Amino acid sequence: MSWLRRLLQPSTKPTEVKKDYSPSVRYAMEAMPTIKFDPSVVTKSVKADLRRNVELLAGLEKKHARQIYDAALRSVLAGRDLRMLSTALIEIAGMSRDRAADIARSLHNKATEQINRERTVSLGITHAIWLYANAPCMKDPFSSCPTAADIRQDSAHRAANGKKYEIAKGLFVDGKWARPGVEEGCKCSARSVLPWTTPADAKPSAAMALWYRKCAEQGDAIAQYNLGLDSVTGRGVPQDYLQAYFWFDLAAAGKPQADLTKLAVEAREEVASHLSSADLSRAQERTRKWVEGHPPKLYAPEEE
Ligand SMILES: [Zn+2]
Repeated sequence: MSWLRRLLQPSTKPTEVKKDYSPSVRYAMEAMPTIKFDPSVVTKSVKADLRRNVELLAGLEKKHARQIYDAALRSVLAGRDLRMLSTALIEIAGMSRDRAADIARSLHNKATEQINRERTVSLGITHAIWLYANAPCMKDPFSSCPTAADIRQDSAHRAANGKKYEIAKGLFVDGKWARPGVEEGCKCSARSVLPWTTPADAKPSAAMALWYRKCAEQGDAIAQYNLGLDSVTGRGVPQDYLQAYFWFDLAAAGKPQADLTKLAVEAREEVASHLSSADLSRAQERTRKWVEGHPPKLYAPEEE
């Protein structure tokens, strides 16, 4: 399973920094942390898309586009090095700090969306759930006050939160087919709907079950919920109600999809009715310990 190997053993080979960048750009590039990120996900089409998005930047001089693209690519390859790209935008294109930060974030979000889309397709994942970041999705953050279009986009994206959509198509939002993190100013993201949740009798491979578990252990509420279901049915994992309660309990505590929380709570209560009170206490203790050891994560595009 090459994708699994990719996932578990991401390349951490540092990229070389050369070229005649200014000392502060070079410093930012060299200081980039070793992030577990697999550069092979940055495919030709991801690069082409990035180049196009750089070329489309308003007010960017053509002579700077190449250097900005280089910096953008390098920061994407570094996992998500917003600081490096911001520094390059300030140094090379003479942008203000705020504008540079915003453009760096926007270029990254678009690249991330494309990478995720390609990867999910290669994993056989067809659907995702739209996640609103609880930060306004405004088209132009520099205007003194939001325009009607800003407000419309933001409220449409807010309403899209938690909605399931076909990755190939996107979600019909604000009068058009859209994908999270793509529209100007959009800070939304997505969570994949894991494919082996349906049909119920599908047998997950050992490798998939492992990946699944990895996601659940990283705090992915969808994976936790699905692992709970599998623990009830014994699909791919040993049948274990106590373990199922544990996963449902975690999924119920997870954020941010209200519909999933409701399902997880229902499933948890159903499983609880099959447990002795001693087992129930053990399961709850297991959740408590897990929550203690795993501080909540924010499922949203990272801010600088
Ligand atoms: Zn948005």
